[in-house]
Amino acid sequence: MAGVCNEKKGMKRFFVDKTDKPITVLKGEERRHLADVLRARVGDTVILCPNDGKDYIYRITSFTKDSVTLEYVSEENNPTETDLKLSVFCALLKGDKTEFAVQKLTELGVKKIIPFISDYTVQRSEKNDRLQRAAHEASKQCGRAIVPEVCRIVSFSEMTEMLSGYDSVVFAYEGAYADGLRIEDAVKPTDNSVALIVGPEGGFSEKEVDVLRSLGHMPVTLGKRILRAETASVAAAAVIMYICGEWK
Ligand code: SAM
Repeated sequence: MAGVCNEKKGMKRFFVDKTDKPITVLKGEERRHLADVLRARVGDTVILCPNDGKDYIYRITSFTKDSVTLEYVSEENNPTETDLKLSVFCALLKGDKTEFAVQKLTELGVKKIIPFISDYTVQRSEKNDRLQRAAHEASKQCGRAIVPEVCRIVSFSEMTEMLSGYDSVVFAYEGAYADGLRIEDAVKPTDNSVALIVGPEGGFSEKEVDVLRSLGHMPVTLGKRILRAETASVAAAAVIMYICGEWK
């Protein structure tokens, strides 16, 4: 995936499909971005990110009208990536709010975002490439080496089938304030993977709450105030990162 980038240590960050050693050749859209958008020149060093968690430093050695050739310089583990695999299942929101949530969740280090449609979801469709682009831009801006995956929109029942395999599931439900779990009861500092579920503007239907309960996912409160859905997903993701020792 080609991309424009921010500056880190004076170098441009650039997401690519793959890198080769000692020489890598970029063509098509990747070449166009590097040459025409980033205005990179022969001799410039750039960071190539093939989405494997590492930063690869390359130096540009030549341009043609079809390709750009770069030579390998060095590589390092990107220090911004978290060990925690946090997936956020967020109900599709109205207007550009899902895009906002994707941007902020990316900045917080989330690995996967799964939009879903439930009984009270008003917005029923969204362009996946728009959301993936928001994740891509946010990853560059905050210096990540991985662009979180933004999955296709799934139904509520498909979403429930995707919850197995996580160490913990945080089902955020505003009706849980009186007797529900707190996030710190639902998530352990030693967890390696956590799923966070946040509903749409209208919340979850009783039927949906019952389904999640019957699957063993107990409702979790995010406090006594009702948060907007996009606030809820971002705030809860930040707290989960903190509990799992990733707020550093
Ligand atoms: N049903 C509510 C209503 O219309 O008054 C509002 C739903 S809230 C705007 C959207 C989602 O954010 C909820 O489905 C829930 O997942 C999450 N949420 C917001 N505030 C919360 C809280 N205090 N505790 C737990 N979850 C919350």
